[in-house]
Amino acid sequence: MIQAGLGHYAIAIPALLLVLLASVEAIWPRRALVLGRNPRWRTHALFFLSNAIMGRFLSFLVVVGVAANWANVHHFGALNLAALPFWVEAAIAFVILDFAVWFQHFLMHRSPLLWRIHAVHHSDRDLDVTTALRFHPFELILSTFYKSAIVALLGVPLLVALAFETWLNANALFNHSNIRLPRKLDRILRLFLVTPDMHLVHHSILVDEQKHNFGFALTIWDRLFGTYRIESILGSESQKIGLAEIDDARPSGFIWSMKQPLT
Ligand SMILES: [Zn+2]
Repeated sequence: MIQAGLGHYAIAIPALLLVLLASVEAIWPRRALVLGRNPRWRTHALFFLSNAIMGRFLSFLVVVGVAANWANVHHFGALNLAALPFWVEAAIAFVILDFAVWFQHFLMHRSPLLWRIHAVHHSDRDLDVTTALRFHPFELILSTFYKSAIVALLGVPLLVALAFETWLNANALFNHSNIRLPRKLDRILRLFLVTPDMHLVHHSILVDEQKHNFGFALTIWDRLFGTYRIESILGSESQKIGLAEIDDARPSGFIWSMKQPLT
């Protein structure tokens, strides 16, 4: 029951943010879109639907929830080794989970098999708030089980696991959005959080630049592991987005995008 109530917040907060960012993009777009909104947005809405169905099938909240509950009942997990105040446990869990997501993204770009799946996200030739929905269901399956395992190993409380998921989704929507932040604000935010201009570099058609700025929320991991890049060598205004080998409108199609890992 409590789980279902928390689950509603985990969906409602990112949904509101998506509407808000899409409105800002419509008024002050950062860059002109190459392929435009249609049929990209339709395709990304279908991505969202497929992942929602897949999430239901995997019972995402249940998988993470079961991991969190199981760890709690069995006093399993690193966080249960010491009696820490709740907020300290929550802060440690947030930082470790954020690193785990950074590392998963790093692996997605390293392993040829994982790259096939993750390349679907990168084949978008534009970047806007809906690109944050463009993840192949295979990637959702992998990350759900990966995160559930970490939640169980750490013994993350359910409330914290759901709060982290909401925080991560909110950050992904923000840093994929096509909004223009004042340069000074961008630089201050970047000290802690991945901004749209920072994530833009990661979506460059230049392979070397795709191997930078893996962060989804905190910027510390890219700084620590030497994968931080301020901006594209072409400059953020003229940088091209997508994959060099796909320079047509195919990524705007849903069926093509679903089949992309198998081609
Ligand atoms: Zn990537």
